[in-house]
Amino acid sequence: MRNLITGSLVLLVALTMTSNTTIHSNAMTDNNPLLAKWEGPYGGVPPFDRVQVALFKPALEAAMAEQLDEIQRIANDPASPDFENTIVALERSGDTLDRVSTLYGVWSATMSSPDFQVVQREMAPRLAAFSDQITQNEPLFKRIEAVYNSPAKARLTPEQQRVTWLYYTNFVRAGARLNATAKKRLSEINQELAGLFTKFSQNVLAEETDQFLVLKSEDELAGLPQSLRDAAAAAAETKKQPGAWVIMNTRSSIDPFLTYSDRRDLREKAWRMFVNRGDNGDEHDNNAIITQILQLRGERAKLLGYPTHAHWRLENSMAKTPERAMELMEAVWKPAVARVHEEVADMQALADKEGAKIKIEPWDYRYYMEKVRKAKFDLDQNEVKPYLQLEKLREGIFWVAGELFNFNFTPVTNVPVAHPDIRVWEVTDKTTKKHIGLWYFDPYARAGKRSGAWMNAYRTQERVNGEITTIVSNNANFVKGKPGEPLLISWDDATTMFHEFGHALHGLNSNVTYPSVAGTSVPRDYVEFPSQLMEHWLSTPEVLQRFALHYQTGKPIPQELVDKIKRTATFNQGFATVEYLSAALVDMKLHLAGDRKIDPDAFERETLAQLGMPKEIVMRHRLPHFLHIFSSDSYSAGYYSYLWSDVLTADAFGAFLEGKGPYDKTVAERLRKYIFSVGNTVDPADAYRAFRGRDPKIDALMKKRGFAGRG
Ligand SMILES: [Zn+2]
Repeated sequence: MRNLITGSLVLLVALTMTSNTTIHSNAMTDNNPLLAKWEGPYGGVPPFDRVQVALFKPALEAAMAEQLDEIQRIANDPASPDFENTIVALERSGDTLDRVSTLYGVWSATMSSPDFQVVQREMAPRLAAFSDQITQNEPLFKRIEAVYNSPAKARLTPEQQRVTWLYYTNFVRAGARLNATAKKRLSEINQELAGLFTKFSQNVLAEETDQFLVLKSEDELAGLPQSLRDAAAAAAETKKQPGAWVIMNTRSSIDPFLTYSDRRDLREKAWRMFVNRGDNGDEHDNNAIITQILQLRGERAKLLGYPTHAHWRLENSMAKTPERAMELMEAVWKPAVARVHEEVADMQALADKEGAKIKIEPWDYRYYMEKVRKAKFDLDQNEVKPYLQLEKLREGIFWVAGELFNFNFTPVTNVPVAHPDIRVWEVTDKTTKKHIGLWYFDPYARAGKRSGAWMNAYRTQERVNGEITTIVSNNANFVKGKPGEPLLISWDDATTMFHEFGHALHGLNSNVTYPSVAGTSVPRDYVEFPSQLMEHWLSTPEVLQRFALHYQTGKPIPQELVDKIKRTATFNQGFATVEYLSAALVDMKLHLAGDRKIDPDAFERETLAQLGMPKEIVMRHRLPHFLHIFSSDSYSAGYYSYLWSDVLTADAFGAFLEGKGPYDKTVAERLRKYIFSVGNTVDPADAYRAFRGRDPKIDALMKKRGFAGRG
């Protein structure tokens, strides 16, 4: 029952599964290919080639009905409840819905056409009600409770005990113990929220699709490197602006434009378009939706017996309480802000020296930061880019996975894909040749695809239904360059690739019995640990010398350039940290505010003022387009997770450095054994201790960001 217990998407997107009483009609359920068992090689693969939008609704209805029947059978089982007939039975239930949800989730995140969005608006509340129908099933909860409280539990394996505990706490946290009136209200809230989450996401997608910046002359392209011009020309074709250049309203288009455009007026225009997504007072404005979401979340938390939504969300996280998460954020905030003031001073000095006669504004930050980088470290990002070919770096991450986890990747073409741009690889063990899983790679931006990058598991590894192998995917939004030429990406994008691949490796290494605790289904503030850790391998000489090859000469990146990159490791960490942390702090404070009526605009402004937010920086995600926290509950009061995980990441990489380096086989084996393979079968704090031999310390993080020794 993967759909209920865990969210399968990591980073950015999360499919909201909750839901309703309605049972299916028979139309389109017979022979609906979305309901069929997956066929083909590797234990079956998703039938992406057979998806039609019209099939989703009947498939979801039929799959929900099927799971309800299964649940009813478990709840009404005359045998007295035990682990096998209750917990294992639940783990086995909902297979069809898991499969349909996978396809539905892929369409929602990457193929969101207007006709699909109509289906989504209708189905989101119904899926929410469906989920409540299960967690509010009294006889079912009584059985789970009985297994949880039974003395027989002590004889179960540690994994079985943890799965039992998870079912019990998840049901309690979802309101299983409430009275009938409260349950009814709770379900109404969940359905209303599901509808609002869908609207919120669709509004952001509309603003990212409908708005763009058109450049019409050479003059307006001033400062842009060739790769960016090519991408803008290609984007112009898709936007039907022949002969022009288009900057899309997504981070992967806007950030490079802000970095390189010499036209300050256009930088401001692009910046305003991007930071005002969802905040334009028109039909796609998200402010009223945010107010409603926050009130409903506040009310729900009270119903469930928690002071605020943040307390409810964090209870089963690694941090456990909002206070502990705030404590970490506050410890890092001050030194980060101090660093920003230094960065701005450097930029202002440079602008003055150039006679620019300006005061640094948010749309100047990336532009002057780049100039300072050149002046201080003699490093030009454009010098690095020719060595960063998307496909070579992909080979690089494969190679790292081979060194650390003994994985081998072979391209396969015999499986269907959702779009011709998507490619698939089979993952096997280098030594035993055993099949481990499949990796789908969907790298390019296109209409209907959410911006950003994320990992998604199409199927999780498990053993309860036989030996089931996993299917994972990595998704990104690279703008396609000229046909036939290698796509060059930035250092930041390369880092993101390693990050997302880290999530994929977390899924691929999974070695558990029960599907609900497999792979990446760990607490939110722990899930970014394996992914952030993998980022460290990009800058290892082994990777750079083999895979950072010049796209024309094939020569590896010169050592001198690598040394320069190393020297800039903590450069601009003030900006990166404050941009992120301001968003994380506002997220937490919003969700600590209870169920009072909140004006998002005023709250954002006032909170940032109280925090002493440097005026030269804007939150990485302003509230009207903060998809992490308003497209579902999953990262709500949880954006701090990246920082929390980064404490572990920085500290964990130290284990390699204290050993024989990043490719130390002994440390890698410990990493696999205690972190990457265990899913959620072990408490994360215990897993970390087993790997590191002690609890994590914050020192490595402060050093990594260049804040060590600051207040
Ligand atoms: Zn991530």
